[in-house]
Amino acid sequence: MLGPKGVITDAHEIEPWASDWRGRVHGQSAAILAPGSTEEVAEIVKLAAEHRVPLVPQGGNTGMAAGATPPADGSALLLSLRRMNRVRSISAESRLAVAEAGVILADLHERAHEIGMRFPLTLGARGSCTIGGLTSTNAGGTQVLKFGTMRSLVAGVEAVLPDGSIHCGLSGLKKDNRGYSLDQLLIGAEGTLGVVTAVALRLVPAIASRAVAWAGVASPEAALALLRFLEARTNSIEGFELVPQDSLQLVLHHIPGTRSPLSGEHPWHALVEATTADPKHDINGEIEALLGAALEHGLIGDAVIAANEAQAEAFWKLRDSISEAERAEGQTLAHDISVPVAGMPRFITDASAEVERAFPGVVASGFGHLGDGNIHFHARAGSHAAPDWYEAEGAAITRMVDDLVTAAGGSISAEHGIGQLKREEFARLAPPGRIHALRAIKQALDPLGIMNPGKLVP
Ligand SMILES: Cc1cc2nc3c(=O)[nH]c(=O)nc-3n(C[C@H](O)[C@H](O)[C@H](O)COP(=O)(O)OP(=O)(O)OC[C@H]3O[C@@H](n4cnc5c(N)ncnc54)[C@H](O)[C@@H]3O)c2cc1C
Repeated sequence: MLGPKGVITDAHEIEPWASDWRGRVHGQSAAILAPGSTEEVAEIVKLAAEHRVPLVPQGGNTGMAAGATPPADGSALLLSLRRMNRVRSISAESRLAVAEAGVILADLHERAHEIGMRFPLTLGARGSCTIGGLTSTNAGGTQVLKFGTMRSLVAGVEAVLPDGSIHCGLSGLKKDNRGYSLDQLLIGAEGTLGVVTAVALRLVPAIASRAVAWAGVASPEAALALLRFLEARTNSIEGFELVPQDSLQLVLHHIPGTRSPLSGEHPWHALVEATTADPKHDINGEIEALLGAALEHGLIGDAVIAANEAQAEAFWKLRDSISEAERAEGQTLAHDISVPVAGMPRFITDASAEVERAFPGVVASGFGHLGDGNIHFHARAGSHAAPDWYEAEGAAITRMVDDLVTAAGGSISAEHGIGQLKREEFARLAPPGRIHALRAIKQALDPLGIMNPGKLVP
């Protein structure tokens, strides 16, 4: 039915797609099915339902929760959407693009740019992650502050439901109150409720210019105060990332060609990006004046604005290289968590202290999307840790972090989803009502349990 391109059974070709991006979870699958159209996906799902064969939808396999990794017993088939990579339509007039699930994010950026528009969501994996995967994990990234997560950028979804029927929500209606939104249910469903085959996405006008600044601040509280100060005076702030001094130090130490933007040392740093679509808007002048005022108000210790695009990219490289630098330094345990924005500065300080107290030698800290109340809370094995530190202490540290997050009214998964990796903790900490509703929805739409079993729903 699928032709030779549509079925891969060679074990060597399958292998890289059967483990997660971090290489921590390994699965097995007898084949990768790679359909070329929505109709082919529907036929596959019907056959899978008939024969009770579970399917694991997969895009770029860049997810951080092992949601696209098949089970180790080889009972499921991988369903790759990567061949469905057409942008079906794109229009500046309607401000919409309809992209198939396998379209790579960077390719969509390019297509939008060609018509003077922009898809305002980006992240480190943009060269390999797909629209289907981004939708299914409700991905965020560095522009959520202004444009929201995928949930706010998706105007409609086309998907094959677990019974093989096709849901088509691609008309991009601004208003549609026909009850429960199937589109919204499918966003963030991690492939457990159906296979996303195409998505209608909102576009915004392309950027005319941007200002990228690096500011040294005394504390996470000061960083948040700086963000609020800027937001009260301009609508242009689009990115605001928090970087602790020790993370910056690691990047400077491990990543070749990097240098500190500021001459002195500061305990914390904020990377600020402001953009404008108006070619007459002097965005650099505006941000420079605002940072000058912030300095006068004592909100920052120092700041510098990138003099050109190369320098702007160099500032972002410092932020984007933190995980890589941490990996080069040694074992790191990552937590993608959120708490209410106002409570985040205190959370970072208190949780770091508590983890370091309970696990002597461990270095804990948070970096990332402060303005979204979402940081990557990482615990690093100190230099004296045993080689099996991750396996020995990891679960206990994670439980402690997750308890602290829950006590602060937060989420143990801000951006990355639940997948396989957070399912146990989700089951342990989520209110029973939430779990009950999730199970009921899953049972109603996928009674045979063929869509990505063992993921998300405890
Ligand atoms: C370097 C790097 C940086 C990242 N930065 C961020 C970030 O800043 N913010 C953020 O939110 N995330 C980030 N991520 C993780 C992010 O979740 C993924 O990059 C992206 O959302 C997943 O896309 P993918 O195509 O690779 O999906 P996959 O990894 O293939 O799949 C992810 C999940 O979606 C399901 N799925 C995939 N395609 C479909 C489909 N068509 N239909 C139904 N289900 C499907 C899978 O079954 C799985 O559960 C980052 C990842 C990397 C590697």
